Amino acid sequence: MPATLAELLTTVDRLWPPTGAESWDAPGLVTGDPDAPVRRVLFAVDAVAATVDEAIEARADLLIAHHPLLLRGVTSIAEDRYKGALLARMIRAGCALVAAHTNADVVEQGTSAVLAARLGLTDVRPIVPGVDPALGLGRVGRLVEPTTLGRLARALAEILPATATGVRAAGGFDDAVQTVAVCGGAGDSLLGDPAVRGADVYITADLRHHPASEAREQALLGGGPALLDVSHWASEWLWLDAAAAELRTAHPDLEVLVSDLRTDPWDFQVVQ
Ligand SMILES: [Zn+2]
Repeated sequence: MPATLAELLTTVDRLWPPTGAESWDAPGLVTGDPDAPVRRVLFAVDAVAATVDEAIEARADLLIAHHPLLLRGVTSIAEDRYKGALLARMIRAGCALVAAHTNADVVEQGTSAVLAARLGLTDVRPIVPGVDPALGLGRVGRLVEPTTLGRLARALAEILPATATGVRAAGGFDDAVQTVAVCGGAGDSLLGDPAVRGADVYITADLRHHPASEAREQALLGGGPALLDVSHWASEWLWLDAAAAELRTAHPDLEVLVSDLRTDPWDFQVVQ
């Protein structure tokens, strides 16, 4: 007997408890019949046309996306809007959709923890501890051996899937780095956190001009980290394999797939 969607949701809530989500977030079931059987699951960072098509073509019964398709209130899922079109396609194909977002960031094997592990960081702790102080947003840890910012950027580029924008650095190529703060996804809100300010380098995504410039200017005065800015999608994509492994352990009969389609919106970059 295959598991039902309701049973899968119980596992999802155990692995990524909804209580861990930020107040503005909307994780959980977006569409799907809780009584429907689930034999095959696809993980993706984004529920977009490419990954929804992939899920339907793979005959997946469930797509688990990191980013919620419906984050703010909607009054229509008409099919002349892309969100309505995606939902209609999924409903017709009998493919459910679940989001595991900020609730999947804060857990032991959350987005930042996976990135920290892939970088080989030790003595890892959250940047913003939660109720359980071992868990929370972001991670900070130490490289076993000091390296340079340039070499760390290259190592990061090797670990992450390829994107048009690669890895951008603020800081000297040869600057020594050992204490590393990481936050998968958009992490500019943590730029002022003492754990980030005390690190040699902060790795995150979506850094805009003003937050990045202000952090670097402040670092000139009172110390602060070099910055490595990566693709938002790439920084969170690494989590998918860890999440898929956890779901396979909970449901050994389930077929769990991971999408390697690049859903980063940037397609190319012209370097001057
Ligand atoms: Zn994200």
